[in-house]
Amino acid sequence: MMLDRPVGQEPIRFHAPHMPPSTYDAVASALGSKHLRAGGRFSRKARALVGAHVGHDRVFLTNSCTSALEVAALALDLGPEDEIIVPSFTFCATATAFARKGARIVLADIDPNTMMVSAETIAARITNRTRAVVVVHYGGAAARMDGITALCAHHGIAVVEDAAQAFGSKQTGRAVGTAGLFAAYSFHETKIISSGHGGALVVNSDKPVLRERVEELLARGTNYPAFARREVSHYEWTSVSSSFEMPDLNAALLYGQLKHTREILFKSRAIWAFYEKRLNRLPVTILRPDEATQTNGYSFAFLCADRSCARRILEKSEQLGLGLQSHYKPLHLSRFAGQILAGHCPAASDSWERLIRLPVHMDLCAEDAGRICDFLTSELG
Ligand SMILES: *Cc1c(COP(=O)(O)O)cnc(C)c1O
Repeated sequence: MMLDRPVGQEPIRFHAPHMPPSTYDAVASALGSKHLRAGGRFSRKARALVGAHVGHDRVFLTNSCTSALEVAALALDLGPEDEIIVPSFTFCATATAFARKGARIVLADIDPNTMMVSAETIAARITNRTRAVVVVHYGGAAARMDGITALCAHHGIAVVEDAAQAFGSKQTGRAVGTAGLFAAYSFHETKIISSGHGGALVVNSDKPVLRERVEELLARGTNYPAFARREVSHYEWTSVSSSFEMPDLNAALLYGQLKHTREILFKSRAIWAFYEKRLNRLPVTILRPDEATQTNGYSFAFLCADRSCARRILEKSEQLGLGLQSHYKPLHLSRFAGQILAGHCPAASDSWERLIRLPVHMDLCAEDAGRICDFLTSELG
């Protein structure tokens, strides 16, 4: 069988950042203003758009989602006595931010129909040392938050949402990223909206002390925000922090993209629906958002019946340049697991090597999406 890519055909990209003219205009304007560091005009504009999305103004732009999670970990004042529950099936940043504070990372298993934690898998890990649960919203879908927030409120545990992939998704009519005490979005180049590297921390509590604490952490551990408001005559070191803010130059890129959020979501969801329609009769488990959730369309993924099938499809896709990808090796199977982690996660162990993701981005044309579906249908049908 002829497996190589037809001559002259470019490989299909898995990701491609969207750069409409508005991004070039905003970046040129930021360069012209000579305000490239954090806190300039484009930071304010981009922040206002993220704020409009979540429905309040306690939104802080960071240089990554990882940094946003670190600020959340610092604001929670965690120590070595504390346990943090984190899904095993995630990117290591979800755990690293909390592990750096010395907290003990306890891994929770996933529901293999969603690849996300549920109130049940979290409840199995709660002890009297649990201080926080980090929920990862996978692939543009979202973990069901009502049960999780009720469980955590009952135990007095903070909820942090790693919504890196979920900007634009909704659950029960609200933006995903508004249910936990903190939520973190990523604007990394591989996410649905991007600023190269970037992120945002959302603080879903209106307690003034919490806002002040987050502002000081973002000011590299100083009371600079009070100084800027002329409430103190000098700013000074107030706590241990680091440099987490998004530079204005990146905020300009972010602003240029955020202005196109509606069309980016529209196209991503259309691609998602196209794949779903073409592939729903194949013998695979498509990861679907539940009935309360509307995906942003960021990712279309399915589980093959077994891992040898997934491996075969990924290898052939590689030769054909179709852009299919696998995803995370679960944290409990990682080389670093023995150092800090606890928890046996059989569902994550069983499913991660069966997972396949399809390309979704603004440059993907109908012909390429059709080629991918034809290939999968001939392999699996
Ligand atoms: C991308 C991603 C991150 C890290 O985001 P950065 O902005 O690159 O730091 C963290 N968690 C999840 C689930 C992600 O997908």
